[in-house]
Amino acid sequence: MGASNARHAAVVALTNFRTIPPRVNFKEKTVKEIFASNVFNEEVQKARLPKPVFKKLQQTIKKGLALDPSIADVVAAAMRDWAVEKGATHYTHIFHPLTGVTAEKHDSFVAPTEDGGAMLEFSGKELVQGEPDASSFPSGGIRATFEARGYTAWDPTSPAYILENPNGTALVIPTAFVSWTGEALDEKTPLLRSMEALSIQAMRVLKLFGNHSATKVFTTVGPEQEYFLIDRNFYFARPDLINAGRTLFGAKPPKGQEMEDHYFGSIPERVLACMLEAEQELYKLGVPVKTRHNEVAPAQYEIAPIFENSNLAHDHQMLTMETLRRVAEKYGLACLLHEKPFAGVNGSGKHNNWSMATDTGENLLNPGDTPHENAQFLVFCAAVIRAVNKHAALLRVAIASAGNDHRLGANEAPPAIISIYLGDQLQDIITQIEAGGAKTTKKGGHMEVGVTVLPKLPRDAGDRNRTSPFAFTGNKFEFRAVSSGQSVATPNTVLNTIVAESLDYIASKLEADHKAGKDFNKSVQELLAAIIKENKGVIFNGNGYSEEWHKEAEKRGLPNLKTTVDAVPHLISKESIELFGKYKVLTEREVHSRYEIYLEKYVKTINIEVQMTTVIAKTMIIPAALEYQKNVAKSIGAAKAAGVPAASLAEQEKMLTGLAHAISDMQKKTDALAHHSEHHASGDTLAHAKYSLDKLIPAMNAVRQAGDLLETIVSDDLWPLPTYREMLFIK
Ligand code: ADP
Ligand code: MG
Repeated sequence: MGASNARHAAVVALTNFRTIPPRVNFKEKTVKEIFASNVFNEEVQKARLPKPVFKKLQQTIKKGLALDPSIADVVAAAMRDWAVEKGATHYTHIFHPLTGVTAEKHDSFVAPTEDGGAMLEFSGKELVQGEPDASSFPSGGIRATFEARGYTAWDPTSPAYILENPNGTALVIPTAFVSWTGEALDEKTPLLRSMEALSIQAMRVLKLFGNHSATKVFTTVGPEQEYFLIDRNFYFARPDLINAGRTLFGAKPPKGQEMEDHYFGSIPERVLACMLEAEQELYKLGVPVKTRHNEVAPAQYEIAPIFENSNLAHDHQMLTMETLRRVAEKYGLACLLHEKPFAGVNGSGKHNNWSMATDTGENLLNPGDTPHENAQFLVFCAAVIRAVNKHAALLRVAIASAGNDHRLGANEAPPAIISIYLGDQLQDIITQIEAGGAKTTKKGGHMEVGVTVLPKLPRDAGDRNRTSPFAFTGNKFEFRAVSSGQSVATPNTVLNTIVAESLDYIASKLEADHKAGKDFNKSVQELLAAIIKENKGVIFNGNGYSEEWHKEAEKRGLPNLKTTVDAVPHLISKESIELFGKYKVLTEREVHSRYEIYLEKYVKTINIEVQMTTVIAKTMIIPAALEYQKNVAKSIGAAKAAGVPAASLAEQEKMLTGLAHAISDMQKKTDALAHHSEHHASGDTLAHAKYSLDKLIPAMNAVRQAGDLLETIVSDDLWPLPTYREMLFIK
């Protein structure tokens, strides 16, 4: 097969790429040997640090005590020696600016000596603080351009690690990124603050329940990452995928996911090989990846770790996305983390499993054997229900992006209405409490599977309702509306903060009752009943995709914020600013800066898509269609010249007219889009965002529709873009 255009070249190259180089061997090195081998973890710290230094560092890591600056030099020296043994020449402070991706700047350990030689240096000061030029990162107006300085501060609660490259390694130090005036410029600082806020309030509640052994409460997170893998040659032949992360054109394939043959299907060899290497890399970094499987859409997969404390889970999640991207390249694949790379095909999300646990290892959302007796569990559960009800809009803001707008409410992902699914068992208990106390519980117990060779399976307390954005799943809540490409920091920051507020409310009530000499059980009962009565509107156990739910939710007064533009303004509401301020998670200025950045990002995303749509229409699709039109006209002309009677050419003439129509329609729509994008909305960022939503997106969709129609008409050998049937089905 000859390669007449980039698309054909991609298909040809793919047919030649069938041998997979062996790159990992778990027989030579077992997972146990590999796991965390590139992490400066507790074990390494213990082996390499003097005992008192090790102890102090552990107190900061485990108990959240302030870091003793006097130990920094010793820790830095130990880190450097360890890293150099692992081949490191450089170190980097890694941070998570509000661009949503990871940032790093590498500095070498090398320092010149007086005699013209070199030594390897890494001081405590360099470990604790870095000063990257902050002027190129979004600050949402916090940082004036004349004050470009920002600094990175070592986060000892997330261990340093080694980043490997074929040509060397670097020591990576997780940090928080703040402005010169101490304001958060990143995703991590507020996450850490929110964990602290929740811990303080949760500890008050635990004390009331007589728990005196725990000293800290952590939030835990296990994020399930969905992603697509397609052949890299296709990727490079699609300028929209390269620049916008999603396809801006593409007719529906004849075979989509209607055969339902992909989910949990056998994993293609090349993909499995890629997964194995990605997992090996993640094991080295101490990321506890646990499951892998095919997802619902063709060419879609999932990887999920065992949960960890939120801060570590966040860092490991960023590493997971980065590793998937990097390793995919080695297998001739491209990893797509966009929420909706292919229209009409299921998009990707990131289920955010979330709970709270004490430093003594108790999961506070674990009902135990007799859930109705477990008052403590119910109190923590009620705190979450109340939080989600009161602050549903903020949770919606936390997952808002141009990409996620394609998923939410599209019958593949939860709706934009934030509601809670509890499941039969918990719902039953909650209903009884509201009515004045729980006496019985629906049988949890065991479920007989009817096949005696199988072990008895414990019945899942919450069965699986995939249509709910926020579901109780036995011993944790699962926030399902989180998007595939986003950092989990913001959703968890919001979650932690709103639950902290609820726990504060609960603790204050119970403490006051206690002071007044009221019976503890009685005050818990009454408080739970009151909370449920007031907040039960957010609970919905039915089908979240249904039309009735949208009507019902409206009746209940639940916000239905369909787009990012609808959602983001809730971030700067009076209640939001007060909430984040009260729990010291975000100052008013920080809230405003985030509001600006989210909207700016939305505007920029749509703008890139608009530019890309125009370019592809003008330079790829329309030229191909014109070429085909010329060929058809030529062949009709030749037939006429050869004496074929006009009557028998009528169908071809009709087809030619149809084609001409489609082309001129495409041209018109493209011109209209170009016109809209040149006309700039006046006003603030919100006005720009509204304009993008109301004018640019519909105009862009119209061009796409015209382009997708042409794809079904124009001769296959002229069509320039890899098609859905190729990208999704040739593996
Ligand atoms: P699925 O939702 O696909 O059925 P699982 O129920 O197996 O998947 O678990 C999903 C994720 O939930 C895993 O990453 C797991 O580690 C995480 N998880 C389990 N317990 C907790 C917890 N207490 N806190 C946070 N995440 C948890
Ligand atoms: Mg899940």
